[in-house]
Amino acid sequence: MSRSETTRLDPYAMSCRQLDDAAAHLDIEPGLLERLRFTEREVTVNFPVKMDDGSLKMFTGYRVQHNDVRGPFKGGLRYHPDTDLNEVRALAMWMTWKAAVVNIPYGGAKGGVQCDPKKMSRAEVEKLTRRFTWGIASIIGPERDIPAPDVNTGPQEMAWIMDTYSMLMGQTTPGVVTGKPLELGGSLGRFEATGRGVVISAGRAARHLGLELKGMTVAIQGSGNVGGVAARYFEKAGATVVAMSDSGGGVYNPKGVSSAKALACKDQYSCLLGREVSAEEISNQELLELEVDLLAPCAMEGVLTQANAGKVKARLVVEGANGPTTPEADAILEDKGVLVVPDILANAGGVTVSYFEWVQNLQNLLWSEDQISLRLEEIMGKAMDEVLAIAQEKKVSLRTAAMILGVGRVAQATRLRGIYP
Ligand code: NDP
Repeated sequence: MSRSETTRLDPYAMSCRQLDDAAAHLDIEPGLLERLRFTEREVTVNFPVKMDDGSLKMFTGYRVQHNDVRGPFKGGLRYHPDTDLNEVRALAMWMTWKAAVVNIPYGGAKGGVQCDPKKMSRAEVEKLTRRFTWGIASIIGPERDIPAPDVNTGPQEMAWIMDTYSMLMGQTTPGVVTGKPLELGGSLGRFEATGRGVVISAGRAARHLGLELKGMTVAIQGSGNVGGVAARYFEKAGATVVAMSDSGGGVYNPKGVSSAKALACKDQYSCLLGREVSAEEISNQELLELEVDLLAPCAMEGVLTQANAGKVKARLVVEGANGPTTPEADAILEDKGVLVVPDILANAGGVTVSYFEWVQNLQNLLWSEDQISLRLEEIMGKAMDEVLAIAQEKKVSLRTAAMILGVGRVAQATRLRGIYP
């Protein structure tokens, strides 16, 4: 298989290739670069869950810890039928660079359980969550590794993880996860943080091009936590969301789709298109190729590839999802003059407010929504300015610039710590 095919099919190969691209601009010793390519710890747990019909079903889950040189491991936990070790490895590596780009004292990790929660009852998902937490309890903890929500997990799963871990430890330990419900030590603004951060970085990127979000047309792939919240904030900023989608397909109206109506329809009928929503049906592929000013992939990785990048008409691509653009697609978009705000910058609002939640938990503090908003804007704005400055100075894409910033910080921290023993 050729190198380009490998990267397209394998997120871990893709993340290693991005690391190599950044390393070419950094003076990193070969041994150190090799270390950054490797994950530090990979735990696979096979575990049984008693299903509602009394049968026993085996599940496989992963927790991959990539690097904790700058602070405890941090990263989400996803439930998806296609999750595998290489996907979780890539997501863990991206977390390391992301925390470094926004200069938050965390390392990178990720978790995943291969399952289809849509085909499971709430009680089954709870049992799966608790048993998986038991399986990884010895490697997580507020000072060690702090999971958070990702695809198909949210505040309720975080509450079950927190409860299970607390029971095992014999004391209530809210700092073991972030993205918890407010009643259990969750932070104001955490639910909105990633989608909000996407719109903050989109606004800065637009300004960099001499444009503004107001009046822009936007297509958003994925309407879960990231895509759904981003849609709301794009509308607040005066942009027109003309298309949205979920795993079943998309809706499109050139005059604008009301995200509130589409999401309410999804809540009630599990699909975005209902009687209240004035739009036509389109496929997820068509959504990516729409005539819009801004495209925000906010679902899964590997959706912009060599095959379709040439058909992207947006001037700006803002990656709410992790890894939506393959390196081949990146090169095509760059040639076309499309500005891509990379995942490790664009969706870093989530880890930023997760950090705020963790700090509040450790210190028993409660910050106001205004404090959270101001700090989020400040951190995202600073990271965006730093990345733009590197991109201009080195004449590289925003992805390579963000990687130079993130990888450079991790490399320097490693040199300062030295290698044990
Ligand atoms: P959610 O589970 O809340 O939402 C995922 C959305 O993507 C759903 O609308 C889902 O549709 C849709 N989707 C799933 N598969 C496809 C597909 N093949 N094509 C089109 N749409 C699809 O996940 P999040 O919003 O939390 O995460 C989305 C992305 O953002 C992921 O890449 C995640 O890693 C990244 N991210 C998330 C953060 C967070 O704080 N949650 C932080 C940083 C990044 P359906 O509803 O039909 O399942």
